[in-house]
Amino acid sequence: MRICSSIAEVRAACLAARAGGKTLGLVPTMGALHEGHLSLVRAAKAKCEAVAASIFVNPTQFGPTEDLAKYPRPFERDCSMLQNEGIEILFTPSAAEIYPPASVTWVTVEGLSDKLDGRSRPGHFRGVTTVVAKLFNIVEPQVAFFGQKDAAQLAIIRRLVRDLHFPIQIVACPIVREADSLAMSSRNAYLNKNERARALVLQKTLQRAEEQFRAGERNAVKIISAVKATFPSDPHVRLDYLEIVDPETLEPIETISSTALVAIAAFVGTTRLIDNVFLQA
Ligand code: AMP
Repeated sequence: MRICSSIAEVRAACLAARAGGKTLGLVPTMGALHEGHLSLVRAAKAKCEAVAASIFVNPTQFGPTEDLAKYPRPFERDCSMLQNEGIEILFTPSAAEIYPPASVTWVTVEGLSDKLDGRSRPGHFRGVTTVVAKLFNIVEPQVAFFGQKDAAQLAIIRRLVRDLHFPIQIVACPIVREADSLAMSSRNAYLNKNERARALVLQKTLQRAEEQFRAGERNAVKIISAVKATFPSDPHVRLDYLEIVDPETLEPIETISSTALVAIAAFVGTTRLIDNVFLQA
């Protein structure tokens, strides 16, 4: 595995990896890797002849009061995990490499970027789409892999690719969960024992929505209000949003007549967690 920290170096490595028309897959991450990330790497290995991953804790997608400074950075461990998966290239740029001094250019997917997490985290998706566009330009993969866990991010990246004509196929990978169904996340490491138990509330809330749907309810507003009514009143858990939306536009749905996305975000202690499930009418 070639580890590159400069854009020039990774461009050369990616060019060589694509030589002779070979397919290069990209897996962008912020590191602190877990089985969820590795599922993306394995999907990339299965589909592409060469795989590049990136580890970059992107400062522009963190709000001023968020966890940029304390975000876990177990670099050696991440490297050996990726090495074991047999990928060809690891790109680990510094913030200064990605955002040269006096950078003023941003990529914004308007409208979608203000929905779900974008509403709770102003500027978050502008940071995500800017860094993803930069990574696409630098690595020039034919295929890029993203997790369904970040459903809003996925919808926004699909739109970015379409609107900016990136010749890149986006592959969505299913959510990987712990044995008790908690969606894997680098931020789960912040949870203490009590919070870890409380974090199951996200998955349980989604399950209640699914039960209502299976029982025949198709009115999304009714499902949301019934499920919200059962959300525990616990000073350590705060619901950020619970919404049923169109998975492409992220617009709220009134009547579920095709595929709908139920998305939840909640604070457990000070840790913000997200999860989601599809309902298929
Ligand atoms: P992150 O390092 O959190 O920015 O995530 C990098 C990629 O891994 C994103 O495409 C995420 O959606 C994906 N990912 C994170 N957690 C999971 C999970 N539990 N299952 C599947 N994909 C995930």
